Amino acid sequence: MSAVMKTYGSSEISFERGEGMYLYTESGDKYLDFCSGIAVSALGHSHPHLIRALKEQTEKLLHVSNLYKIPGQEKMAKRLVENTFASSVFFCNSGAEAVECGIKLARKFHYENGDPNRFRIITCSNSFHGRTLATLSAAKQEKHMAGFAPMLDGFDQVHIEDIEKLEEVVNESTACILLEPVQGEGGVVVTSNHYLEKIQQISKSTGALIFFDEVQCGIARTGKLFAHEWSSVKPDIMSLAKGLGGGIPVGACLANEKVSSAMKPGSHGSTFGGNPTSMAAANAVFDIVEKTTFLKHVQEMGKYFKESLVSLGQETNVFGEVRGMGLLVGIVCNITNTDMVKELEDNGLLTVAAGDNVVRFLPPLITEKHHIDEAVAILNDVCRQLST
Ligand SMILES: *Cc1c(COP(=O)(O)O)cnc(C)c1O
Repeated sequence: MSAVMKTYGSSEISFERGEGMYLYTESGDKYLDFCSGIAVSALGHSHPHLIRALKEQTEKLLHVSNLYKIPGQEKMAKRLVENTFASSVFFCNSGAEAVECGIKLARKFHYENGDPNRFRIITCSNSFHGRTLATLSAAKQEKHMAGFAPMLDGFDQVHIEDIEKLEEVVNESTACILLEPVQGEGGVVVTSNHYLEKIQQISKSTGALIFFDEVQCGIARTGKLFAHEWSSVKPDIMSLAKGLGGGIPVGACLANEKVSSAMKPGSHGSTFGGNPTSMAAANAVFDIVEKTTFLKHVQEMGKYFKESLVSLGQETNVFGEVRGMGLLVGIVCNITNTDMVKELEDNGLLTVAAGDNVVRFLPPLITEKHHIDEAVAILNDVCRQLST
């Protein structure tokens, strides 16, 4: 009997090592990884640049706490600032913590502005922001909240893309509007530019801040460094994690100048956040993903993958709609999505289920055409088996 708390479904597979796009079990079975540890292993497994950076850092120093200045953290923050709307960055260890920091920032900003009652946050239906009490309260998913009441007060939810309702709900107590530019867990739902532009207008006219949760869609996943760059809209706050450390736990919350200024020494903190080891990983990942050629590669692979899926979708009745951007792609299944994930796994392809009966494909961003061909061939086989 496992001594691990039963918060996860129990897969029988375990991996011993990984290399590039593949994972290997102890008995040598090989799997094509289109899951990436849920959008984390952006550079695939055992990437030499990431491994080298970690080796060099861990031989020198693992951890010191934020009582001291951490050069790797200074460097990583500067790079994020230079590449975004932001003027400062707070480092933490996970997506939920990054969102949590953003929630605190939005409230603190209005508090410092003499508006302490402006603490409510508007979120989207079918969103996911993590498993802490505040982030559960934000996403309002019944299945995640059950048994954990009371939730945190101050969150209002509006259907994604429902601008009319959003205009109705937003008022002088709205601190910010929080959303994922591309919903991941919710079923790979890409928000329209029109919707994001409307949110920007609402933000301008009401003073509610914009907070993008790019924990899953950020760090080159969609073929831009950040998914919101596909629109003209800039947030005031942005949360990152997953791909940021390429497999080492790293989260970050970015804020523009006016919001950043709300935080003072002592306002917020983390023991582990931004330690030398995690920052070595984040800097190494960023060395690669920030390159224009790399982003272009993700765009091209995403386009090729989506086109392959669309044409397969036209030949089979096992799935229909293909959704997504870059290498954050989903298919809407006509069978139960978790059964599909299991069938694919049995045939050597790792994927992950999402809301709305979607199977999500999150390959490492280093994927090449032949890996996509291999994945699509497995999907094709599984669709044939399932429809006969
Ligand atoms: C995964 C995810 C989170 C939570 O991240 P954890 O590291 O599991 O806490 C938050 N927001 C989004 C959009 C996510 O995809």
